Parts: sequence; structure tokens; C-alpha cells
Amino acid sequence: MTVQTIPIHPVQQVEFDGGLIQRLSQSGPRYTSYPTADRFTDEFGYRDYLQAVTHLHARGTRHPLSLYIHIPFCDTVCYYCGCNKIITKNRDKAATYLGYLKRELEMQGKLFAGFNHIEQLHFGGGTPTYLSDAQMDDLMQHIRRWFQFADDAKGEYSIEVDPRSVTPERIHTLRRQGFNRISLGVQDFDPEVQKAVNRMQPEEKTLETLRASREAGFRSISVDLIYGLPKQTVMSMNQTITKVIAANPDRIAIYHYAHLPHLFKMQRRMNDEDMPSSDAKLDMLALCIRRLNEAGYVYIGMDHFAKPDDELAVAQRQGLLHRNFQGYSTHAESDLVACGVSAISSVGMCYSQNAKTLDDYYDRLDQGELPVVRGYELTMDDVLRRFIIQRLMCNFELSIRSLEEAYPIKFGAYFALELEQLQELQQLGLLTMDDEWIEVTLKGRLLIRNICMVFDRHLQQARRLQSEPLRYSRTV
Ligand code: SF4
Repeated sequence: MTVQTIPIHPVQQVEFDGGLIQRLSQSGPRYTSYPTADRFTDEFGYRDYLQAVTHLHARGTRHPLSLYIHIPFCDTVCYYCGCNKIITKNRDKAATYLGYLKRELEMQGKLFAGFNHIEQLHFGGGTPTYLSDAQMDDLMQHIRRWFQFADDAKGEYSIEVDPRSVTPERIHTLRRQGFNRISLGVQDFDPEVQKAVNRMQPEEKTLETLRASREAGFRSISVDLIYGLPKQTVMSMNQTITKVIAANPDRIAIYHYAHLPHLFKMQRRMNDEDMPSSDAKLDMLALCIRRLNEAGYVYIGMDHFAKPDDELAVAQRQGLLHRNFQGYSTHAESDLVACGVSAISSVGMCYSQNAKTLDDYYDRLDQGELPVVRGYELTMDDVLRRFIIQRLMCNFELSIRSLEEAYPIKFGAYFALELEQLQELQQLGLLTMDDEWIEVTLKGRLLIRNICMVFDRHLQQARRLQSEPLRYSRTV
């Protein structure tokens, strides 16, 4: 395995150390939240959520909100998928769902009356474009009735699009409906790989969607790829990445396929013998990083790359990058209100999750309650650790002095156990530290989850009790 130092920006680098990755890669959370969603309990319910919103009112907080809308439906299943989705061709299901979703939005809108300003909206799924033009129009009008949008230049309004489900006209309509960021699911251009994962997506269809997004004036166009899928080889990955670079999107995400067949039954449909070896997967990752860096993309963190002038890269340079349930974000201060089946909100000091099945989701709304079924109230210790994990994930460094100024702790005493573990990682070359700073090294960046896991008190406790859930993906 080779060691490559790859300059990607005058001040930004990442180093691929295959040997170290092979040695340290393990199962671990992606830290879209801390504590992670598997710590939520059903002791937290609707009334706790109401209380969290009441506290926000009492504090007089006036930060703009983020709004997430979950559309769970898909036409066909992609075998690798671990999302919460419902596979159906029966469009009536979407009409029923929309009725309930609008009810939930109205209830949330009333709760947030007086501070319902939105600067960030994200439609995820499932397949948000499963909805027809008319349904999307109706839904967007409804959202605007209950929430006030910042104008187009200031707000970040994004939608995940499956290119198979749209025409160029539809892309222009989405732009008119208010979306200004678009994220295209591609995964791999190779027809053999597409067949193996049951996602046949002609290359021309993807490129046509990308061109239409640019013509329609989307400000940031993002492409999602996955490495580690069946039938993928370093050669085929090279061809895919070449085509993606030629298409010139603003952001590229390259996710590691999380093979968790004990959790996701559909993953058992893929042949084990078609899976690339760990060595091949690492070679694919090294290749993608090298090619993207040569093409001028900045490494944002985890699986994300962006052009240097994309707002994610700018936010990172300014220390304003944030991480939430949708991944990296530029809106650090926002409370997140999430609507739809299984959606997770982050309001004040709480996380709350909606019912995971449609029946349960509908029943609760029929009872006149928000469909919150589980959640978590953060302790001060959680808040402190969340701050540390956020800084490390987003900036690759932590100012110990700033932390001690913001929180009533002495870092060395409070995190004595963690420091011992960090020293081990320091010896391995993942980070450097002194009394004032922890800095992640270039080769530590790809293993950032390993570093964050040191600060995850819940995970460490579970490991001590040998009760760690088997639901995490590999860290690289
Ligand atoms: S990857 Fe996207 S389109 Fe495929 S099943 Fe999952 S949510 Fe649906």
C-alpha cells in the first residue's frame, strides 16, 4: 500500500496512508449527530419536544431554522440502500402521505409562530422527485404558508434528485419552485455495477440532468458516488471518476458502501463473490482522492469534496462549517425541524425522531399529536463533547484554550482518559497535540471518525460493557 501526499489547495491537504487505514479502520458512527441516533430512547416523546420548543421561545432565540422534509417513496429498490424508504409504484400512497405531511407541517408552523424564519431547506428520501410537479407545487406553497423563507440569494434550498425520475423540464420546474441546490444520485456509471445493484441509470440521463441543473441556475450541483459496490474495480472506478470530473459538478461525495446485510435484507441480493476486496476498495479510495485533488477539488472531510469557491469550502476556510443529519452544512446556529416519517429534528438541547412506519406516523397525527416517538435530551457533558466532535470533523483542529473559555472545565483533568487514547493516536501519526491545540495530521484526516470516537462517551461505555451496536459502517 502506498503513501501519497496530495496537495488539493494551497492550504488544504490530505494524505492517503493505506497501511494505517487498513490497521485502524473499524466500525464507527458518522457523527451526523452526537450522541448518535442509536442512543435515542422512547422515554422521550411528543411532550418533551413541545417543552424543548417552549424553552426556545423562552430564551427568545431568533436564529433562522433549518427544515428537513422526508419523502420516503422510491419506484424500485437499489440493493445497497440503507435509507428509510418505501418501494411502491402506487402513486396514491404518496397522495395520502402528502396529506399527513402537510398536517405535520402546519402543527410545526404553529409551534414556531413568531420565529419561523428559514434559511435552509432540504428534501431527502427515498426519492423526493417521486412527487409529481403538482404535488411538489402544493407542498412548497404549504410550507411557505407556515414558514418564512429567506430570499433566494441568502437561503440554501436543496433537493436530492434521482436522475432516472426527472426530465430536463422537471429540473427547471424545481428551480422555479424555489430549490437552488441539487444533489444527484449517480453511484457508478458502469452498467455491470448498476446491474449488480439493481440501479440501471443510463449515463446520458445523468449527464442530461446535470446539464439541465446548470442551465436552470442551481447554485451548487452535487454528485454522489459509492465505492465498494459489487463488480467495481479500480479500472471501472477510474472511468466513473473521469466522467464525473468531466461533468464538472461543484461538489462530489464518495461514500464507502456499508455492507450490513444483518440489518438490510436487500443487501443479501448482491453476490458476495462480486464484492471488491478490502485492498481493492482502498485502492479505489486512493485513486478517487488523487484524481479529485488533481482536478482541483478541496477535501472537506469524511466523504466530501468541493470546488474551492463552493460555499462548503469557503465555510470551512472561515471556520463556519457545521455537521448535521444531512452531512456538512454552512448553517451552524440553526435548529433543525424535520418532518415526515422517521425524520430526526434537533431543537435546543434535544433530538427527536418521528415514527418509523407510515401506519404509526399517520395514527399519531390522527390523534392530533406530532408523531415524535423517541429522542434524547442532551446533558452538559453531551453538549461539550458534541462541540469537540463538531470542531474536529469540520476543522480538523480543536483549540483547547477556546474550549476552556467557553466551558467551565480544565481539559486535561476532564478528559484524562481520552488524552491517554489520543496519545496512542498521536504516536501513530494521526494527530499532534500540546496544551493549546489538538491538530489532525494530513494522514489523520481520512481517519477522523477514529479520533472523534475517543470523545464519544456513550460508545466508549458500550465498548466497556461489550454492548456496542452492530449497526455502524467502517470508518474508511
Ligand atoms: S438509493 Fe435512493 S433510489 Fe435507491 S432505494 Fe435507496 S432511497 Fe431509493
